[in-house]
Amino acid sequence: MERISWKQYFMAQSHLLSYRSTCTRLTVGATIVRDNRIIAGGYNGSIAGGVHCIDEGCYVIDGHCVRTIHAEMNAIIQCAKFGVATTDAEIYVTHFPCLQCTKAIIQAGIKSVYYAENYRNHPYAVELLEHAGVHVEHVPLDKKIFLAFANDERES
Ligand SMILES: [Zn+2]
Ligand SMILES: [Zn+2]
Repeated sequence: MERISWKQYFMAQSHLLSYRSTCTRLTVGATIVRDNRIIAGGYNGSIAGGVHCIDEGCYVIDGHCVRTIHAEMNAIIQCAKFGVATTDAEIYVTHFPCLQCTKAIIQAGIKSVYYAENYRNHPYAVELLEHAGVHVEHVPLDKKIFLAFANDERES
């Protein structure tokens, strides 16, 4: 197969991570990148050791599942936990970030947001990203990457 681009590589990574999600409402993945190196990844799920939505059902208040930490937050928190700088990093997300995650992304000094799918794009989130000078780009996942992988007949 053709050599894949960095953008598709990181976007594919976020989609793989989304398959680790424990919430049944929406499966989201996020990958934080600096200088074309992955520094953190996250998916939406419960806190470590907590019960999972896939086992207990979602904990819904006002139409939102409150049990989970969003993928973007998990990735940023992972950086905090291990002392990795997020300044000038990029984030690749399967879905357009929510307002809370948008604020965290901006505040963490992340300079580019690449998203595969539009998802309830909040006008205030769009406005905040613009105002902060964050580069926002729609990068739909090329699903042929995974087909090529499944059909790869090279010796392993
Ligand atoms: Zn849930
Ligand atoms: Zn969010």
